[in-house]
Amino acid sequence: MVKICCTCGKEKAALKRPKTSEQLCKTCFYAALEDEVHQTIIKHKLFSPGERVAVAASGGKDSTVLAHILTTLNERYSYGLDLFLLSIDEGITGYRDDSLETVKRNEQQYGIPLKILSYKELYGWTMDEIVRAIGHKNNCTFCGVFRRQALDRGAALMKADKMATGHNADDIAETVLLNILRGDVPRLGRCANIITGEDSAQPRVKPFKYTYEKEIVMYAFFKKLDYFSTECIYAPFAARGAAREFVKDLELVRPRAICDLIRSAEEFRLDAKGGQSHPVAGKCQRCGYISSQDVCKACVLLEGLNKGLPNLGVSRTRGSKGGKAGLPASVDA
Ligand code: SF4
Ligand code: ZN
Repeated sequence: MVKICCTCGKEKAALKRPKTSEQLCKTCFYAALEDEVHQTIIKHKLFSPGERVAVAASGGKDSTVLAHILTTLNERYSYGLDLFLLSIDEGITGYRDDSLETVKRNEQQYGIPLKILSYKELYGWTMDEIVRAIGHKNNCTFCGVFRRQALDRGAALMKADKMATGHNADDIAETVLLNILRGDVPRLGRCANIITGEDSAQPRVKPFKYTYEKEIVMYAFFKKLDYFSTECIYAPFAARGAAREFVKDLELVRPRAICDLIRSAEEFRLDAKGGQSHPVAGKCQRCGYISSQDVCKACVLLEGLNKGLPNLGVSRTRGSKGGKAGLPASVDA
């Protein structure tokens, strides 16, 4: 039996929305998803008119859909944002070089400028060189720490007011779960924040905080968006992979599980006795970038690499697969 779209009641339904189980036609699905992102942006005041916003772009599905939807909404609702794409070239042959070609095409497709910064120019090392020096064990720790800082540096260099990242609801639910599994109470309390680094020069915002990964994939697929889907050649078998599988299993039984995991972190409060304070953002004494320690993690890791002691600084960091193609081992999402 042909199913009819439950919103317009006219068109043939093209899909069942994973988040709500509604049968929708493509047009009504696009409208529903775009409207949810718009409502998230408005409700949480993610942007202000006139702001210059870096869209962290890897060429993957999340950041490609984010660039597409933000340019669409910016025009449709006159947000007045000055958007640009910011990409980091980690120096991973056969992975990042190909995905950067996608980002370069996105620059043309969405008509917004692109800035690419490389690990080589910032740190003097490519990820290929780092893996040759340290092996495959802790590569994502280096990559995640370096990328986080590289994005901050790129955003500062380009005089951005904010940075938008493509973290979706599944990513955040996984991070909540990982922080529970690690007993990382302070991070659990803040990992679901939709705005992070509010005291820094370029706060980070997550317009897809409530958007399901499956719906992002469907949106990209139906709209035939140009994105890169190959996994990094250094992707490890790590805790995040197990958490991801677990979240997917939960979603199968109960689609709301993703939202509920996020809400559990949102509702999480530290009492005065057990509460550990939020790390105070200061500046690294060596590179001058944001750090809660005297010397930032990137500088500690770099010191190890340059001294031929790559494990220096790694031991204090618990291993994980990088999220968004690479979160640092500690998971703030
Ligand atoms: Fe970097 Fe992600 Fe590749 Fe790890 S999986 S090396 S974090 S890009
Ligand atoms: Zn419809």
